[in-house]
Amino acid sequence: MFTPEILSRFDLNGPRYTSYPTADRLHGAIARDRVFEALNGVAGGAFSLYVHIPFCRSLCYYCACNKIVTKQPDAASRFLTLLEREIDLLGERIGGARLPQMALGGGTPNFLTIDEQRRLIGLVDRYFVRPLDREQSIELDPRFLSEDDVRALAELGYNRVSFGVQDFDRDVQRLIHRHQSFAQTANACRWAREAGITAISFDFVYGLPLQSRATLATTLERALSLEPDRIAIFNYAHIPERFKAQRRIPAESLPSIELRTEMFLYASERLADAGYVAIGLDHFAKPGDSLARAAADGSLRRNFQGYSTHGGLDLVGIGPSAISDVGGVLWQNAPQMDVYAERLEAGELPLVRGRIRSAEDRLRADVIERIMCHGKVDWAQIEARQGCDPRVALASEIESLAAFAAIGVVSYDDDGFRVTPQGRLLLRAVAMVFDAYRNMPREAPITYSRIA
Ligand code: SF4
Repeated sequence: MFTPEILSRFDLNGPRYTSYPTADRLHGAIARDRVFEALNGVAGGAFSLYVHIPFCRSLCYYCACNKIVTKQPDAASRFLTLLEREIDLLGERIGGARLPQMALGGGTPNFLTIDEQRRLIGLVDRYFVRPLDREQSIELDPRFLSEDDVRALAELGYNRVSFGVQDFDRDVQRLIHRHQSFAQTANACRWAREAGITAISFDFVYGLPLQSRATLATTLERALSLEPDRIAIFNYAHIPERFKAQRRIPAESLPSIELRTEMFLYASERLADAGYVAIGLDHFAKPGDSLARAAADGSLRRNFQGYSTHGGLDLVGIGPSAISDVGGVLWQNAPQMDVYAERLEAGELPLVRGRIRSAEDRLRADVIERIMCHGKVDWAQIEARQGCDPRVALASEIESLAAFAAIGVVSYDDDGFRVTPQGRLLLRAVAMVFDAYRNMPREAPITYSRIA
């Protein structure tokens, strides 16, 4: 295990590299015609659709997502009218395209009533084709879910659900303001399986107030008793100066960096014992799950939705703050609902920032994605894909790996390098070595549609 000195030497809260350049490097000078050109490239083809539903019924204090906490019953219906305009604008350019993957995230996608969910799917079906073998996923908050809801969602074609849990411990839940009983989560799982949704994921967070190895152990045992196919254990980043709700979490209740490390290592061991395969930064999956199979055959990719088995597809994100990545052009919609609405009412796509990947960006993106997905990099494979020798173009970065090798985080030779099992904790720090923008000033702080 790494010493506290080693751990504090590296930025454990570095970028999660769901893209490279990272979303905080998008700028306001994106040319709309380049976005249109990129979209025209997927016409008649296939893409992955992400829909950001920004509403939540209750505020979780740890949250860093872009959301609007509201109890207004007509908020979603007004939003769907805007979403309809956005889908119409997209449909004009890429109507007829197939959706092998579609995901609803938030916020809380089940803020929408079932009638509103039907309306949304109707809008999608107006322009796009959902093939029979698609992956259609939705993030669900078990606190606001009924058996009828789950059955109706299955009828609307959802075949993968992700339940936010965070922690089952009551004291932890009190401090993060997310009261969710074990029964609520267990019922949600049972209803999903009874409705024919067999792919179930749980999201947990470690590093929350009052968490300890003991609380995490209890939470994990309870989670395992429900046999999810995938488990993600995200590291909580306490940045109260950026995320206002986090100011309500007393800093003194947070576990130390050593304790957080111990918790993650414990979870990794326990989940390995239970038969789960470790994937990338913080995911675990049963060996038969599509994510584990993609990790095993080398096809696992990373995009704004997180780890993906369809990462080779262009990704179009709709809704406020959603990010798209199409043909090497990245763009983000306005995170603020009023700006998002204004743009759409003016008949424009609501994007406000973007970036076009350069050849150097593509080279670095390839290396960083291999690190984040597979924990290993083969220089010859990168050269074959990118048409330039990374051993020359990235010579000084490769030299910097010596510092990581000295403390057992990576092992390397002339052909490439791999991150050691214990080095997984420092995966982001290794990826950061290849990030040319890491020390450059940012144009504006980013608002994320979700943490992936
Ligand atoms: S954690 Fe999820 S449910 Fe809680 S406020 Fe954030 S987006 Fe909403």
